[in-house]
Amino acid sequence: MAIRHLITGSFITLLLLGGCGSVPDTDAGSADAGSAPQQAVIVDPPLDDAAVQDEQAQPLAGVVLCLDPGHGVTDASASERVSPLSQETKPAYVSGAEGDGQTEEELNLAVAELARAELEARGAQVVMTRQDHAATVSNQQRASMANEAHVDLCIRIHADGSESSQPSGMSMQVPAGDLLGTPSIEQPSAQAAQIILQAVTQQTGADSRGLTPRSDLTGFNWSEVPCILLEMGFLSNAQENEQLKQQEYRQNIAVGIANGVCQWKQSMESE
Ligand SMILES: [Zn+2]
Repeated sequence: MAIRHLITGSFITLLLLGGCGSVPDTDAGSADAGSAPQQAVIVDPPLDDAAVQDEQAQPLAGVVLCLDPGHGVTDASASERVSPLSQETKPAYVSGAEGDGQTEEELNLAVAELARAELEARGAQVVMTRQDHAATVSNQQRASMANEAHVDLCIRIHADGSESSQPSGMSMQVPAGDLLGTPSIEQPSAQAAQIILQAVTQQTGADSRGLTPRSDLTGFNWSEVPCILLEMGFLSNAQENEQLKQQEYRQNIAVGIANGVCQWKQSMESE
């Protein structure tokens, strides 16, 4: 990305900043492009303008992401190693948090699908670890899916629960510690987490609880690609649980994720 930045110069980069904030709806035109009769009169704009328009409409072209909606409904029970560096095991399938009227696994999938649409509209390629509520995908398998797709970033989507009804706000968990199979993901993961958490809290108005380093998560310790875990809020907090049920709020989380990914990409290009 750095080489490309040098070639295209700061002109394109400045325009990219605009393209990342909000995206015009370009789906309608492109969806039917394959079957449209080839009779439209096309006036080619000058090449430079065309390139700039592509950059604005598809600021995430070339970016490959994994979205991992946490949990899933399954009766399966098994254990798996918490890290390639340890024989210690943990349950492979864990139930998520529950709020009044919704479960974490259904919320996670709903927001992941909205985020996928936002990211794909901006040109990203998205790999999903599950697309059904009933899903037997262990945390190690989720990491393997992101590894095998060689994604630029894996975003795990979760919501919190607490014994107390008081805690609220969003946080981002990041890989850290001695059990990390690929220690080099620690710094880039933290960088992505910082940027994307800020973008999501800005878009939603939620309080930020900051970054939480985790050395005990199987999904992090097996990851060979930068990986972050968004906690979207507390289902144990009645007010936040109600917010998280609303389609508009879920959409704002998705837009915030896509905005954050755009800003993260720009930060990588400017290095
Ligand atoms: Zn969870």
